[in-house]
Amino acid sequence: MNALELEIFTCRSDNYGVLLHDPDSGLTASIDAPELEPILAAADRRGWTISHVFTTHHHGDHVEANLALKEKFGCEVIGPLNEAIAIPGLDRAVMDDDIFEFGAHAVHVIETPGHTAGHVCYHLPDSKLLFSADTLFALGCGRLFERPAADMWRSLQKLAVLPDETAVYFGHEYTLSNARFALTIDPDNQRLKDRAKDIEAMRAEGRFTIPTTIGLEKETNPFLRAADPAIRRHLLMETRTNEEVFAEIRKRKDNF
Ligand code: ZN
Ligand code: FE
Repeated sequence: MNALELEIFTCRSDNYGVLLHDPDSGLTASIDAPELEPILAAADRRGWTISHVFTTHHHGDHVEANLALKEKFGCEVIGPLNEAIAIPGLDRAVMDDDIFEFGAHAVHVIETPGHTAGHVCYHLPDSKLLFSADTLFALGCGRLFERPAADMWRSLQKLAVLPDETAVYFGHEYTLSNARFALTIDPDNQRLKDRAKDIEAMRAEGRFTIPTTIGLEKETNPFLRAADPAIRRHLLMETRTNEEVFAEIRKRKDNF
């Protein structure tokens, strides 16, 4: 079994496009479909034919090219059952704990309500890959449009238990502003300070900050660290629940 291959590119103003290719079966999945032209250009660059779209949620910047890709490639659109009605061209609806085959690779569906009510992430345990879209970003998490903070906290915990070395491909390049915000919540975290410095340099050179890893996020992403004593002390929330601390961090980010 050969390793899966990835092609990463930017779409729209700050979305990431990702193509996932299985050299053994020849299958290629577009992770979401933010914008047609860059997806076609990426497929063309690699000589890949798109066979699947793995949709994470219904927002326009994730589904815009679904129908055009289907028309061009006849590809199968897979996406969340809980918002199936809002996913253009959906062929196969999936829900939490579903497992489907991508060539010889198993894809596990993890429902992560919060940003939207039906948002799903796609996890490939054999390749240690996670496609987290607008649930988990490098040093951030998605805005709470459709579910309360407690739901998002629970969703993020489902991702935090994945192996530390899991590579996380997220939906938007928000990393620099996320880093600046994270420092206001967790100012004494040396690992975060070092990472923020790296990110400043990477973005100054226009480099992508994707992917991250579960292990690095657990050490530095304040949205995964609501249980951390130093953060709780800093927020004067030492006796509050993790959900309450998380909700406070999310509220501060909304106003940052
Ligand atoms: Zn979104
Ligand atoms: Fe988005």
